[in-house]
Amino acid sequence: MSDIKCTVLECHYNRDVMCNAPMIQVNHCKTKHSKESEDTQCDTFKPKS
Ligand code: SF4
Repeated sequence: MSDIKCTVLECHYNRDVMCNAPMIQVNHCKTKHSKESEDTQCDTFKPKS
C-alpha cells in the first residue's frame, strides 16, 4: 500500500503520523458528490482502546 500520512493520532492504526492499516476505505461524509477534501472521511478509523 502507498504511504499514507494521517494526522488522526487518536486512531488505533496511526504510527508516528502515518497510517499502519493493511488497507483503508475512504467515503463521502456529507453528500454523494464530494467537492472538497473536507467532504471525505476515513471509515477505517478505529479509536485507540
Ligand atoms: S485508518 Fe484512517 S484514520 Fe486511522 S491512521 Fe489510517 S488513515 Fe488515519
